[in-house]
Amino acid sequence: MLLLPTLALVGLFTIFALAAEDYYKLLGLDKSADSRQIKKAYRKLSRQYHPDKNPDNEAAKHKFVEVAEAYEVLDDDETRKIYDQYGHEGVKQHQQSGRSPGQHHDPFDIFSRFFGGQQRGGQRRGPNMEVRIAVPMRNFYTGADHQFKIEKQAICSKCSGSGSEDGQRDTCGRCNGQGMVIQKHQLAPGIFQQMQMQCDVCGGKGSTVKHKCKTCNGQRVVREEEEYELSVEKGMPKGARITYENEGDESPDWEAGDLLVQVVEKEAEIGSSEDERTDGTFFRRKGNDLFWTEMLSLREAWMGEWTRNLTHLDGHVVELRRKRGEVVQPGAVQVVSGEGMPIWRHDDGLVYGDLLVDYVVVLPDQMESGMEKEFLTVWDKWRKKKGVDLHKDSGRPEPKIHDEL
Ligand SMILES: [Zn+2]
Ligand SMILES: [Zn+2]
Repeated sequence: MLLLPTLALVGLFTIFALAAEDYYKLLGLDKSADSRQIKKAYRKLSRQYHPDKNPDNEAAKHKFVEVAEAYEVLDDDETRKIYDQYGHEGVKQHQQSGRSPGQHHDPFDIFSRFFGGQQRGGQRRGPNMEVRIAVPMRNFYTGADHQFKIEKQAICSKCSGSGSEDGQRDTCGRCNGQGMVIQKHQLAPGIFQQMQMQCDVCGGKGSTVKHKCKTCNGQRVVREEEEYELSVEKGMPKGARITYENEGDESPDWEAGDLLVQVVEKEAEIGSSEDERTDGTFFRRKGNDLFWTEMLSLREAWMGEWTRNLTHLDGHVVELRRKRGEVVQPGAVQVVSGEGMPIWRHDDGLVYGDLLVDYVVVLPDQMESGMEKEFLTVWDKWRKKKGVDLHKDSGRPEPKIHDEL
């Protein structure tokens, strides 16, 4: 029913629809994004959809063009303001009126201008960055989203990584843009050594800057703190590595390496909040199974008739119980199936491992003498009545003692 009117609309507005996707949405940003976030989004997406990386992929090419268009409009304060207020139509009119001479429109121009014309194919890659983040085991059980901050090297957004206040870089006069100079050393009269060295004026860059950018002091990069989202999935293995592509240290000279986050388990501790005070906090995890040690008194182990309520990692209760007369041997292990860890990304949805309860029996080491005597009397009485032979069931060979007389 809904299909017909939708089709008609699409037919009418095809031409507009191509250009009408929200620019912020295209770049994966919201309206409050700052200049740095816009540049960053463009840096990432333009590489991802570049036709060199996606040969014969029309959809990628289309995306590449759209992303360039969005970046071009949002990166410029004036056009961004117009877009925010009047949308695509406003920007179009503004561009047609010729009041934006700085605009490029050719997505490849935008791309090579952004990357300084040096980044196509075979570009150098920066080092990967590795961090460890410790989260409580509860997070591995229930799943959790965290935010974390990392200080890293970022391209200076004030000068877009040129190091120059006016965006101008001049060819270095000393090395003629080569970045290298030949130096002659006299080793002995008439004997010279020629050495190629990095240019000391431009530091090997081949270009110099007259007016240094004040934000980065001409260094082209700054130290910045950036925030990331970490999603700990249910049942994720301890030590799992999550890759944040191209989020390593940035530099205009290379494609940023990856940020690798290793998610490790925090040591258990009694916390202050209610959910940090469950028995589950002290479960031990091995793969998909959880382990717990439960203490029983002699009477409980022997006579039964006891109950324990274990509060699990999410607060639900696992009841352990024995009826009267049910014996638990010391060291016995009870498998409570389905009360272990969720199995990470299981095909059938949420499936859980087991909880293994290890029973430790604590014998009384202090007894009132009257009580001790009573126990002994009871045992003696029953031993005589049943005629218990302690060797009988031991499986040991009978001692060969013969009466020689
Ligand atoms: Zn700068
Ligand atoms: Zn130089």
